[in-house]
Amino acid sequence: MIFDLFRLDGKVALVTGATRGIGLGIVEALSDAGAHVILSSRVPKPEVVQHFKDLGRQVDYLQGDVQDPAVPARLVAEAVKLGGGKLDILVNNAGVAQHGDTHSFPEAQYRRLMDINVDSVFRACQAALGPMRAQKSGVMLNIGSISGLISNIPQPQAAYNASKAAVHMLTKSLASDYAEDGIRVNAIAPGYITTDMTNGGLADPVWGPVWRDMTPMKRPGSAIDIGAAALYLCSPASGYVTGEVLVVDGGYTVR
Ligand code: NDP
Repeated sequence: MIFDLFRLDGKVALVTGATRGIGLGIVEALSDAGAHVILSSRVPKPEVVQHFKDLGRQVDYLQGDVQDPAVPARLVAEAVKLGGGKLDILVNNAGVAQHGDTHSFPEAQYRRLMDINVDSVFRACQAALGPMRAQKSGVMLNIGSISGLISNIPQPQAAYNASKAAVHMLTKSLASDYAEDGIRVNAIAPGYITTDMTNGGLADPVWGPVWRDMTPMKRPGSAIDIGAAALYLCSPASGYVTGEVLVVDGGYTVR
């Protein structure tokens, strides 16, 4: 059956930023496909983990603030323990968005954004290379953005855009460097997706209409749109795909 290619039975996955927004959509898709998913977030949400247990999914939870340089490696090490000594899939989804003019953008905001959006992704990938190289297999998926490909308007967000471009290039570089170890590394570049991150902007009387009008499909996407793409990139269905930045944006970047 062709659809067996989308199954993840017996696979162990660690997902950061997993208890709300896009991360939740990714957990929904990977756990439904049979993976043992280890959810991680900064703020524990036991009710979310319980929800998946009630559905009969195999899930665990790890708390961690990925801005702390020691945390990504700790999460990977603990996920390997929970996974019975292996890690098949790492999804780096945790991220923050900060808008503001560059000429007055506070240094502390810039540092936090880069720490979370770029440095933590590098550190988690670096840590996952240990078990994945030993296994001679593994999949990494980084959540980038269309903001790593184009400069969004009307909101100024140069630092965020640069952080996501870094995620895309890290993805391609790791894909090139570790393909011979059996490790695939891909990214998803979402357009506007309805989550806590974008709800304010979508409701804004200036930003909301611009975001919708610039999207050919004239609407934002949902977390499960990204979850479905993540399932493809994390499963054997994409077995010959590596170094790809898959755009899921309702057509935003075609114009
Ligand atoms: P949300 O703001 O809804 O959720 C962000 C997630 O990241 C939360 O789970 C949050 O954890 C986690 N997170 C943030 N900071 C930290 C931290 N220091 N340590 C650990 N976890 C942290 O955002 P989205 O779901 O919208 O975004 C998810 C990813 O998708 C981000 O990387 C974002 O940049 C990207 N993206 C989003 C788009 C959109 O339109 N929504 C478009 C393009 C890309 P907690 O719940 O504990 O706070």
